[in-house]
Amino acid sequence: MQHLASLPDWLGAVWQRLQSMHDQGRLPHAIVLGGSKGLGKRQLAEQLMAGLVCTQAQQGHACEQCKSCLLRHANSHPDIQRLAPEEEGKAILVDPVRKLQPWLSATAQQGGAKVVIIEPANELNVNAANALLKNLEEPGNNTFFILLHDWPKPLLATIKSRCQSQEIGIPDQQLAQQWLAQQHPDANVDELQQVLHMAHGAPLLALQYLQQQAPALRHQSLVDLTAILRNQTSVSGVAESWVKADVKQRLDWWLQWLQDLIKLQQTKQAHLVGNQDVLKLLQAIAKKADIKQVFALHDDLLASLDSLVQRRNINQQLMLEKLLYQWYQLV
Ligand SMILES: [Zn+2]
Repeated sequence: MQHLASLPDWLGAVWQRLQSMHDQGRLPHAIVLGGSKGLGKRQLAEQLMAGLVCTQAQQGHACEQCKSCLLRHANSHPDIQRLAPEEEGKAILVDPVRKLQPWLSATAQQGGAKVVIIEPANELNVNAANALLKNLEEPGNNTFFILLHDWPKPLLATIKSRCQSQEIGIPDQQLAQQWLAQQHPDANVDELQQVLHMAHGAPLLALQYLQQQAPALRHQSLVDLTAILRNQTSVSGVAESWVKADVKQRLDWWLQWLQDLIKLQQTKQAHLVGNQDVLKLLQAIAKKADIKQVFALHDDLLASLDSLVQRRNINQQLMLEKLLYQWYQLV
């Protein structure tokens, strides 16, 4: 852990709320920071934790100089523990929770608080969660649990009911765009708006898209969908290339375009279309497609996205072929 960068503006309100609870001695011992990906939950958790373990914190901000802060910078603070899946996308199992027990019953070594960060808490499996319940109820003196909950995956109700939730909402578009421009000064306004839209308004996710060149992938997905409608490529060929990477992301964009298409068909108002760069294509489809079929594809896309989010065991190639064929049949 390096020195902490200052928190983005949109986290200011929730930070203030946590600090005023802390000042009054009623900071909950188990806090869930919940929100979509890309809103800065981790940054907030790190800053909160840093202030709690620092021995000379001022208004919740770590001093960055005391022994406790230096140990934290070196990733070797004895009073900080982290629970996370061994691999991204896997569950947090019960073993690490059991191993934590002796540490939880010992007193803090550095004079500050003891803090456990659980990220993402929605990946705790049932056994791991059950092993944690008692700790969450009676965390022991000066011990805090900070749980990060990535929406929309649900958090187990048993965990949720033992924590206090702090929700982090999508920031105001202008604020998000300003922040993004500061982080990525090379991007122009159109690019900034586009990635923010793609990220459903989550600035850190938008930044990740900018850095990962998601716009190019999005463009290619659009080229593929257009080619299918024009009979210039095969459904199975596109499915085969899509299945190799970012299926969820592609379906998410596609769903946005369909939602725009529905708006366009129902209202004929071009300015309501969120993805203006796709407008011409959508207008061409809107003229020919039967709205019932558009809705059917929309619902199937949503269901497929849900299966991917829930990581149900599905044949992605078949799933994509079916969806792309429905798309082909729209015009
Ligand atoms: Zn300090």
